[in-house]
Amino acid sequence: MPEQSSTNKNALLPSPPPVILCTGIAVLDFIFQVERFPTASTKAPTQQFVITGGGCAANAAIAIVRLGGQARFCGPLGDDETSCRIVQGLVDEGVNTDDVVWISGATASVSGVFIDPAGERLLTTLREQGLAEARIANPADLVRRVDAVLADNHFAEFVLPICQAAACRGIHVVLDVDRPTEPSDPLFACASHTIFSAEALKLTTGILQWERALARAAEFCPGFVAVTNGAEGVLWREGNDVMQIHAFPVQAVDTLAAGDVFHAALALALAEGSDETTALRFANAAAALKCKRFGGIIGSPTRAEVEHLLTSAVKNNADDGS
Ligand code: ADP
Repeated sequence: MPEQSSTNKNALLPSPPPVILCTGIAVLDFIFQVERFPTASTKAPTQQFVITGGGCAANAAIAIVRLGGQARFCGPLGDDETSCRIVQGLVDEGVNTDDVVWISGATASVSGVFIDPAGERLLTTLREQGLAEARIANPADLVRRVDAVLADNHFAEFVLPICQAAACRGIHVVLDVDRPTEPSDPLFACASHTIFSAEALKLTTGILQWERALARAAEFCPGFVAVTNGAEGVLWREGNDVMQIHAFPVQAVDTLAAGDVFHAALALALAEGSDETTALRFANAAAALKCKRFGGIIGSPTRAEVEHLLTSAVKNNADDGS
């Protein structure tokens, strides 16, 4: 378990803060901020450039620590330079990496990401090699030490036993459905909260219309079901109704990792005991702040910044329009 700083930066946080196990993918991102996306045979000047860790679960772990929680990362990585660099980046941010599964001879994924002036992204990935077969030895032991699990579905077979063990313990399992899958995917059965990306919801349900797609998803997701949809915010099922919180109106500079920050903030708030609507508002604010900054997960906000945005929104009566 990570060491606790003796001074909790936010008096409102439970002490000690909850421990969230983030399980799934970690990659290395090379991020270019460009005036326009490059097209064939043209040059697109770069305004800013950073190399940073990426990947849903790894990003979420960093976001959780910035928000005042404790995070452990558990995912498969190789013994290559990229993997070492990813883990060092997590350690530098205060994430506990004791649960990384190291695979000899394997290599981690690397992404090249272009960000345009509207904050939109163009992405290419050199896929990992040798990580897909990795499995965890003792999932029950792993989840015994944590208060909640946040899993992405990039290594679905790797995270499944961890999510099942967490479900057996009765702790929250927040599932980030970043990739399209099948309604019969066994991950759905163990998630207390399933949050789809817009693309994944459409392709998993085969339905384009949000209300109907969420209704279909609720048939195979026994827990809470939601979809994040960029600047449109988040939609979720409440009984037979669909509710929405619009995104905070911010000048988006870089939306890379916004979804990861959203899931991180949601998982942390739920583990702290917030109800779903409060947790979604917190996540919506955290993700919006991330969008204001270049650099993928480097732009993830602190707890104080999120609390400040939520407080000023209430004061100005300029909430998110929900
Ligand atoms: P993903 O990257 O997983 O597809 P989304 O693009 O749906 O995630 O974004 C996740 C969340 O980030 C949204 O639900 C919203 O809260 C926030 N967000 C994304 N884009 C913007 C934006 N342009 N302005 C404000 N908030 C945003």
